[in-house]
Amino acid sequence: SLLAAEKYSTLNSLISVQSKPELLRQVQESQRRVSSDLGESKSPIDGQLIAVKDNICTTDFPTTCASKLLEQYTSPFDATVVRKAKEAGAVIMGKTNMDEFGMGSHSMYSHFGPVMQSAEDGQPARSAGGSSGGSAVAVARGMCYAALGTDTGGSVRLPAAYCGVVGFKPSYGMLSRWGVVAYANSLDTVGILGRNTINGHDANDPTSLTPQTRERVQDLLSHNRRRGRRLAIGYPEEFNLVELDDSVRSAWENTLAHLSSQSHKIVPVSLPHTKHALSAYYVLAPAEASSNLAKYDGVRYGYRDPTDRSQDGLLFSPTRAGFGAEVRRRIIAGAYSLSSKAIDNYFLKAQSARRIIQRDFSNAFAQPNYLVTDNLEEGRGEGGVDVLIAPCSLSKAPFLEDVKMQKSPLDSYVNDVLTVPANLAGIPAICLPVMHGEDSVGMQVMAQYGDEETMWEVAKIIE
Ligand code: GLN
Repeated sequence: SLLAAEKYSTLNSLISVQSKPELLRQVQESQRRVSSDLGESKSPIDGQLIAVKDNICTTDFPTTCASKLLEQYTSPFDATVVRKAKEAGAVIMGKTNMDEFGMGSHSMYSHFGPVMQSAEDGQPARSAGGSSGGSAVAVARGMCYAALGTDTGGSVRLPAAYCGVVGFKPSYGMLSRWGVVAYANSLDTVGILGRNTINGHDANDPTSLTPQTRERVQDLLSHNRRRGRRLAIGYPEEFNLVELDDSVRSAWENTLAHLSSQSHKIVPVSLPHTKHALSAYYVLAPAEASSNLAKYDGVRYGYRDPTDRSQDGLLFSPTRAGFGAEVRRRIIAGAYSLSSKAIDNYFLKAQSARRIIQRDFSNAFAQPNYLVTDNLEEGRGEGGVDVLIAPCSLSKAPFLEDVKMQKSPLDSYVNDVLTVPANLAGIPAICLPVMHGEDSVGMQVMAQYGDEETMWEVAKIIE
């Protein structure tokens, strides 16, 4: 792993790395502990190297969010997910590169330069996907056993799809966001990237819903779960966009055919409001972001221009100019949609679109969304599906050069069209690499809110 981190350092996937002697010390300490405890390891990640996205707070490394504003910032505490990983024996090997504050789809908008995905065949570098591109490359190149990322609109699943690894976005609220620098609070989730489902499944230690809510949702789900039966597997027709690459579409068909050959039932499903998901997301996420980023004012947080221009009434602007262009675009878009002139037509409309999109999913699944209802009868029951399967990205990873040539920043937003619906609905989704000829295509399994159990069941069949 350490050698891989050195060998692939040109891919720029890591912002900070733990020193080799310190890593060795920690790994050996865990090995000694395991052997003295009669071979009992604390967890499946005991003694394993884990990389952490640089918007998740750590005391051992700076937490920069890949921003000039936080270049010098080290958190006084560990995020809950980091603390839990350490308690489970994990060794944090470093912090991964990303799009500034999580805003982007190619991990190119970083103060530390773009992440690259190397191409062995002498082809130019491809996009690693974003915004957790550094985490995906670190996993794909064997620098670590697994990595933490964040997924607000697809930032774990898109890089997983582009890099050919597994990326899991849990139900909203399942993993604690304490110590995770907020981008859009109502959509942010902590996700896990691994080479296979084993890397993700056991590291899934849900922490953040109140124990009562978690227990209630799990009780209700298991009450209604049909066991020992054929699964009903839906494919949402609205995800079959004309923009889908042929290879992606046929990988999707092959996945469904494979499940059908295992005698599961394949059903077409309609999620009629999917077409509004991308625009709703790009209103809501920047709105929340513009509010979250207000604290980077050079007083509470943020770098400060050494020249004192306060005389000119320029207290904030020297600091705020430290944001990259994409982050500034989001702040302006968000501030606009929240302004008195625009809030009715943008922010409030997007919020109702979001509810309707969530309802579309609930109308498809056999199980109800128990965060919204207690009613056991409310789901579709026999007529509904257990999971939905759809691609994660429109195509395989584009060349970085082509991405740089794009005329409008909006061209990047389109990459999120297949991932944002799950964030808006708050439901769990996992992206799995499926081989299609030479290429790896990312396929996602989505399940009802809290129903990770069924999601993993299907993920393992596909894997
Ligand atoms: N690409 C999306 C965005 O830029 C998603 C980012 C994310 O999930 N953090 O907002």
